[in-house]
Amino acid sequence: MRYQTARSTLGAFLTPFFALASLAQAPASRPPATQTWITDVTILSPENLDHPAAGTVVIENGRILRIDGASSPKPAAGVTIISGKGQYLIPGLIDSHVHLASVPGMNTDQRAGKEQMLSAYYRQLPRSYLYYGYTTVVDLAVYSEKILEDFRRAPLHPDLFDCGPPIPIANGYPMSFWPPAERFKFFPNFLYDPAQAASIPAEYKPEDHTPAADVARVKGSGAICVKTFFERGFADNFKLPVVTPEMLAQIRRESTQSGLLLFLHANSFEAQKVGLAGNVDFIAHGMWHWKERDRVLDNEPQVPAEIKSTLDQIAAAQIGYQPTIQVLEGERVYFEPDYLNRPAVVKVVPKELLEWFRTPAGQWFGKLINEDHLSDEQFRKIYDEGPLRRVRQATAYLAQKKANFAFGTDTPSAPTYGNLPGLNGYLEMQQLHNAGLSLTQIFQAATINNARKLKLDSQLGTIEPGKTANLLLLSNSPLESVDAYDSITTVFLHGQPIPRTALSATALQ
Ligand SMILES: [Zn+2]
Repeated sequence: MRYQTARSTLGAFLTPFFALASLAQAPASRPPATQTWITDVTILSPENLDHPAAGTVVIENGRILRIDGASSPKPAAGVTIISGKGQYLIPGLIDSHVHLASVPGMNTDQRAGKEQMLSAYYRQLPRSYLYYGYTTVVDLAVYSEKILEDFRRAPLHPDLFDCGPPIPIANGYPMSFWPPAERFKFFPNFLYDPAQAASIPAEYKPEDHTPAADVARVKGSGAICVKTFFERGFADNFKLPVVTPEMLAQIRRESTQSGLLLFLHANSFEAQKVGLAGNVDFIAHGMWHWKERDRVLDNEPQVPAEIKSTLDQIAAAQIGYQPTIQVLEGERVYFEPDYLNRPAVVKVVPKELLEWFRTPAGQWFGKLINEDHLSDEQFRKIYDEGPLRRVRQATAYLAQKKANFAFGTDTPSAPTYGNLPGLNGYLEMQQLHNAGLSLTQIFQAATINNARKLKLDSQLGTIEPGKTANLLLLSNSPLESVDAYDSITTVFLHGQPIPRTALSATALQ
């Protein structure tokens, strides 16, 4: 009542604030219009998977207010009702490894003159993640703050967290992809390596590039995590500099002190041993390199004993593990003639960009990775019998050992059109299932495991009162088939129901 007096005195300028205040004071018998009830729905949440029950989930002001059992009270007038009859409600999915600034299929030089195509892509980007149910994403390496800001300002977008500017060792991966004269500008948060003093420009002072200084910059950017790398190299160069165990230990210490999580890029046996010894929170890849120089046709029927022992320890330490099998598949698809014709592709990529992928210029990445001019069949065989086989075997072993999978895709992991936003997550789930993860393991990896490892579980990861109402309504149960993740009907984003069809790239055209 006192607000009414104030309002009449202070005039129209303050009306919106006072209107909100009086809403909060509304009597309990008249629910505010912001309530949404999802009725008669089978609730699948990580803590109730053994006894899923049907009920009603009540959402208010973007949060789950309460969950009523089968005998729910009758909703009052003014409540938005969404019938979940015959459907399944799950928490919104979390992809804890994405790269929002990179455009699939395109290198930096190709961007010139394609402003329209790019702006259409970035407009669709957050919607494509939502289309496949990803309501939270973590960008592991911020190269463009502007693109992240635009993403956060989009009318509909997943909740976004990030690891700030990445911390590579000087001249190591991924700096090594840039010409020596430019790479320090692109990676200003690099780690100084005294052994390489001669190849670090003099303007960069060692004291500004210590683990403490680098982690402080990450913290200052508002990040929740730190990303560093252990990568000896690729095809023709396996001699890239890598962090020493001492450097990694310092990064670990500084990250812990700053309250930041630590991700390590590691896709080899050696690198994952380093991550294990360095007590990292996340290993940001599967293990597709086993020896220093893997031969394609080693065809080990079993994971070698010494690798098993490391994987046992990774599982026991409950490190957040991201197999990212789609990283390899994303390269292999250039040799799958029908890939771009899959019906799912037009749902996540604007038409103009998809048309460009089909042009000779758009095919550049496939040519780059097929230096030896192999046939499609030969190329696929090398991947299938080499790195894909190894990562699947290592992943299957970890699944048996109840490793702590933390779902992440690395979208896009390279300038490949084989890692499209949102769709790539769905395909990664298929990969994990084929590699031997149970449907429950996949469900937990993309919800509660990620929420816990990211320390976001007070807000996300389950369907419980008080949590953010990021939810998905599905026609099919993801505990019965992995294809169910493609049967989303409604995405709830902070309580706002969005029909899935409205999120498709085709809905904007
Ligand atoms: Zn990555």
